[in-house]
Amino acid sequence: MSFSQIVGHQKQVEIVRQALNHGRLHHAYLFLGMEGVGKKTIALGLAKAIHCSAATGDFCGECADCARIQDGNHPDVRIIEPLAGKKEISIQQIRELEKELNFRSFSGKKKIAILNPATLMNLSAQNALLKTLEEPPRDSLLILIAANGGALLPTLRSRCLRISFGPLARDLISGFLVSRKGLEAETAEFLAAMSLGSLGAVVSIDTQELLERRREWVRLISGLRAGDYRAATDAAEVVAGSKDDSLRFLEWLESWVRDLLAYSVTRNPQDIVNIDMLPQIQRQSATTDFERLFSRIAEAKAAIGGIQRNLNRRMVIEDLLLNAVEAS
Ligand SMILES: [Zn+2]
Repeated sequence: MSFSQIVGHQKQVEIVRQALNHGRLHHAYLFLGMEGVGKKTIALGLAKAIHCSAATGDFCGECADCARIQDGNHPDVRIIEPLAGKKEISIQQIRELEKELNFRSFSGKKKIAILNPATLMNLSAQNALLKTLEEPPRDSLLILIAANGGALLPTLRSRCLRISFGPLARDLISGFLVSRKGLEAETAEFLAAMSLGSLGAVVSIDTQELLERRREWVRLISGLRAGDYRAATDAAEVVAGSKDDSLRFLEWLESWVRDLLAYSVTRNPQDIVNIDMLPQIQRQSATTDFERLFSRIAEAKAAIGGIQRNLNRRMVIEDLLLNAVEAS
């Protein structure tokens, strides 16, 4: 693997590569963004590029240095995570880290620490790290990884160069699943739609279970009839599980309604995501009108926004489904 094989985030990768190649790396970075989009991969990539014995300004992913960094046992690169059985990164871990960063590097190159996620440092650990950041040891590099910077002390944040990572585009994720995981295009498309922009999430998803759940969603949605408020309320109760479950349902619903719309316009199966459910899409798209489909896409989007802002999930989804049976 090398920088060019990282999925997405070209701009962010370019920022760190440029800094590396021009000898202008900062002492501390804060990599911010939702889980599973590649923050740790890029942090490890930067550490490898600094220590790689085969490539310059990049990493080979295969030499002994790259391999040891990947495995977390390179003497100059420490990955700080909560210890086994612990929920937090402790002040002891940070004190040890500080000591280590002050030792001379084994390789003569930078000493690096990746804190993943930095938000698991308790307050005293953060304060201890702050001291290190105020007087960074020579040739040290700290990379703090976090989904949400709000859990870090402002004084800590302000001493790091912040790089933000957005969700990955759907086509990047489906492309990755096809070319590197060998998935069928239609499964890849569907999983990408369900990934919520996180490659990490999609790799750990149980595909069979998700396909199973989707059959249930299709059954529930197809079964909604005008005026059947009871069915809408029951369906909301079934699909509104955890926050991620609710978001997945809504992302799927949006892809489903888009498919109905696309199919009723083009009659081309190539244009749809839920390709393996073509017969259902053909049936449903014959009986729904454009205007309603458009407004249902907007409603699904609004519901996704609401759940991301932590509105009551069941209420948001119930509202959406009650609207659907009302408008029929
Ligand atoms: Zn290498």
